[in-house]
Amino acid sequence: MTSTLIDGIGLLVTNNPEVGSLTAERHDAAVVVENGMITWVGDSSGAPAADLRIDAGGRCVIPGFVDSHSHLVFAGDRSDEFEARMVGEKYAAGGIRRTVGLTRDATDAALASNTARLVAEMRAQGTTTVEIKSGYGLNTIDEARSLAIAGQFTEEITFLGAHVVPAEFTDDPAGYVELVTGEMLDACAPRAKWIDVFCDDGAFDVDQARTILQAGQARGLGARMHAGQLGPSDGVRLAVELGAASVDHCTFLSDADVDALASGSTVATVLPGVEFSTRQPYPDARRLIDAGATVAIASDCNPGSCFTSSVPFCIALAVREMHLSPAEAVWAATAGGAQALWREDVGVVAVGKKADLVMLDAPSYVHLAYRPGVPLIHRVI
Ligand SMILES: [Zn+2]
Repeated sequence: MTSTLIDGIGLLVTNNPEVGSLTAERHDAAVVVENGMITWVGDSSGAPAADLRIDAGGRCVIPGFVDSHSHLVFAGDRSDEFEARMVGEKYAAGGIRRTVGLTRDATDAALASNTARLVAEMRAQGTTTVEIKSGYGLNTIDEARSLAIAGQFTEEITFLGAHVVPAEFTDDPAGYVELVTGEMLDACAPRAKWIDVFCDDGAFDVDQARTILQAGQARGLGARMHAGQLGPSDGVRLAVELGAASVDHCTFLSDADVDALASGSTVATVLPGVEFSTRQPYPDARRLIDAGATVAIASDCNPGSCFTSSVPFCIALAVREMHLSPAEAVWAATAGGAQALWREDVGVVAVGKKADLVMLDAPSYVHLAYRPGVPLIHRVI
């Protein structure tokens, strides 16, 4: 077993909740890593010897990003839709059906290689944990194989058969909910950790969402939810009521939604790349944090509403457009994402945690927002 000392860290974000402050930062710090785990954290001057040494040269080191919301198993491209939106067309949930057709026609190898490309793109931008959803198969065979492909890249696998109602069920949405909670769930539950539903205009209503999430929970899956993206609904409160790990988007929030998120354990995950790419108003993440809710930031990387794989870009948006401080945004994209996935081993730099570290080509994480669009990831460990 080889130990590695990373010293000369100018600024280390630990997010260690035992320290007290949000990002629990240390200056002139060092970390020792052994067998993929962190075995020591402290001052650079007092660091123990190790087999190998990496000199951070005064750079900032943060936990690897935990991107808790992505849709990477798909085929095709919808850049034409994006182009049309940018010259005035509105985003609607129905575009998903286009990707469904292309995904069903794609081979396993083509889907896996597209997913691999996107996972590599994410990693190069500092993401070390990623959640991947199905949701472009929308029949039993294609949902099950999408999950198998997701499983080649992550353990955070989410069954999203309830993304939209596929074209062949347009006249029978109730029949589709029956399929999702019956035969499709039977095939998919053993391959997934999570169940998700898109609860919004043009997708599934609150009653359908309840039926679908409870069916998944009864099979041992954790619940997560897309809600409040396209308009106000009772979806956010349903997620809290059902004990979902996370409710994602939260673009439209009522006072009651904010109260529910502040008092419950469900994380509010904001996806500011979506608002950027659909030209929608940004979620009021500032209000959520001030109310006491836990906020995570994720990419929602998908071919329709937001095709960025870059968490640094989302951090910059969160700071610029949603008025989070840089520290709050970095916490939300690391420890916040970990909470949204019920993970205690990532998002934190402390003894016994996974050694998922990102060294920035900058003296501070503030540069992630201060220098938007600049490749600041020096090294991913
Ligand atoms: Zn999504």
